[in-house]
Amino acid sequence: MTIDEILHKDQLNKEEIKLLLSAEGEDLKKLFDRALQVKLERLDNYVHLRGLIEYSNICSKYCLYCGVRCKNLKVERYQLSDEEVLECAKLAHELGYGSVALQSGERSDKAFVDKITHLVKEIKKIDNGSLGITLSLGEQTEDTYRRWFEAGAHRYLLRIEASNEELYYKIHPHDARHDFQQRLACIDSLLKVGYQTGTGVMVGLPFQTLDDLADDLLFFKEKDVAMVGMGPFIPHPDTPLWQYREQIPTAKKRMELTLKMIAILRLMMPEINMVAATANQTVDPQGREKAILAGANVIMPNLTPNEFRENYLIYPDKACVKDKPDECHSCLDIRLAAIGHKVLYNAWGDSVAFTKGNPNYSKH
Ligand code: SAH
Repeated sequence: MTIDEILHKDQLNKEEIKLLLSAEGEDLKKLFDRALQVKLERLDNYVHLRGLIEYSNICSKYCLYCGVRCKNLKVERYQLSDEEVLECAKLAHELGYGSVALQSGERSDKAFVDKITHLVKEIKKIDNGSLGITLSLGEQTEDTYRRWFEAGAHRYLLRIEASNEELYYKIHPHDARHDFQQRLACIDSLLKVGYQTGTGVMVGLPFQTLDDLADDLLFFKEKDVAMVGMGPFIPHPDTPLWQYREQIPTAKKRMELTLKMIAILRLMMPEINMVAATANQTVDPQGREKAILAGANVIMPNLTPNEFRENYLIYPDKACVKDKPDECHSCLDIRLAAIGHKVLYNAWGDSVAFTKGNPNYSKH
């Protein structure tokens, strides 16, 4: 089968995915062109924004890649006040972002669960519920997920990080706090509760093979998720995986592989929301634009107050840490216009894959 035939198929099998993951030169260009074409046909040239609020770096986990793991004692821990969170949310609303994403280190104690429930309700009060709310707060019980959903959150991001159990345990400790089956069960709970559920993986991890990456894409398809986030792995000096930094692909290759993953998934799941992750921009100044051109349709501009941003370094040299929120804003419009895209302001920007399958879903 020729590359052109594969690029026009409805379903891709593992061998075809691997072939596309290995594409180079003219074939690679064809892959990116086809993914962009599919996106424009199905979703138009709109980019949806989620104002990112990095709520807290207090975390009970010690994932082997993450800079805010609780065992990294160099990090100064913080948690935003309710006022700070609401100020960020109001700013998102004023800037016309339509949605916010509340992300945090992982905690599941009652005080945290209650606090988030309260914050979600407060954010919902802004202009009569006009902001969409995405949560990215790690593994929780189904009951907690349901409480937050009932409070008004309607999208949830929980990356599987690696869908191969063996690889999962090479990038997480193998203990009760980092349980692969538990993470899988959480994704199932989110789907069951009714969230637009997002998952994803890091690309270019130590020990990760093309087989793993192909299986990751098939996993997203099998779970029929509404959203996916994928970004290059970036080694952090204060984490255990730093020791493998010479054994992983170069930053350029990790970026290219991420773009291939985005493009292939756009062919496999044409109407899902896919984020152009900030990690892309950290590895390559044009990274986010490249991800949009490879098939992504969501960007999460950072709204966290500047004084806290440098304490939320899940990976080093994170892009935009020093930018002011409104600077990010004008810069985005210009950058997107330059690549023939535009921001869809004042809308939730839900996943079409999800809303289509749920005809009674009340869209904003
Ligand atoms: N505690 C939440 C939020 C995690 S941060 C949760 O567990 O879901 C969001 C994402 O950043 C993670 O899911 C992970 O995929 C990514 N990330 C963490 N460390 C990284 C690193 N060193 N390089 C690239 N991405 C990283």
